[in-house]
Amino acid sequence: MVILPLSSDDIIVIAKQVGLDDVAIVAPCRLNEDARFMDDWVSRGLHGQMTYLERNREKRYDPRELVDDCRTMVIGLLTYEHSGHDYHRAVKSKLYDLYGKLAEYHPELLDGKQRIFCDSAPVLERRWAEIAGLGTIAKNHQLVHRTLGSWVHIGELMLPLALAERKADGAIHQLPCSSCSLCEDACPGKALSGEWNATRCVAYVTHKCIVCQQVCPLNNHVI
Ligand code: SF4
Ligand code: SF4
Repeated sequence: MVILPLSSDDIIVIAKQVGLDDVAIVAPCRLNEDARFMDDWVSRGLHGQMTYLERNREKRYDPRELVDDCRTMVIGLLTYEHSGHDYHRAVKSKLYDLYGKLAEYHPELLDGKQRIFCDSAPVLERRWAEIAGLGTIAKNHQLVHRTLGSWVHIGELMLPLALAERKADGAIHQLPCSSCSLCEDACPGKALSGEWNATRCVAYVTHKCIVCQQVCPLNNHVI
């Protein structure tokens, strides 16, 4: 029996079958604009205690510097509701399931060059998800998906296989942020007033603040 390689459309279908709430396929590149912004932002100390942002900069700006031979990124979203207590594990588990299915059709993937991450490597995940059409980054710095809202975790499967891009339909083309200040007003550290200042964001220190997501009207229909 001849096993045909999977198309990108097939992979999207399988990714949803294994339980990802939305998924897209993009080709990696260097994010030059983000690199310029972050270099400037870090040089002014606005990253606060996140000293890890001072390291691995080229890896962060270009996934091909992080993973040798990375030619495709399959980016998946999993809602908080489907993630349970350990979201890293839940998201990675779905991506491993997807990888297992892909490897059945692409035996060349069995060489172990794939990598799977979820908030566990220097990857600009929100930006990549936005580029992939999986949402839009709003004033509260969260990725907001058109139907899932911002209650989503992001993970990525990096593959040494060139696949056709398939962007998702999760972007919000007209954010209401220019006429809304609910997140700014509610933020306990006033981190969202003016230029983004991570030193004032409680979540970067304790991981326990979700106020700017709770008050966001973009989440009303998904809470
Ligand atoms: S609370 Fe308002 S300003 Fe903040 S992200 Fe949501 S819509 Fe935008
Ligand atoms: S997570 Fe909390 S502290 Fe950080 S920006 Fe949002 S509301 Fe402000």
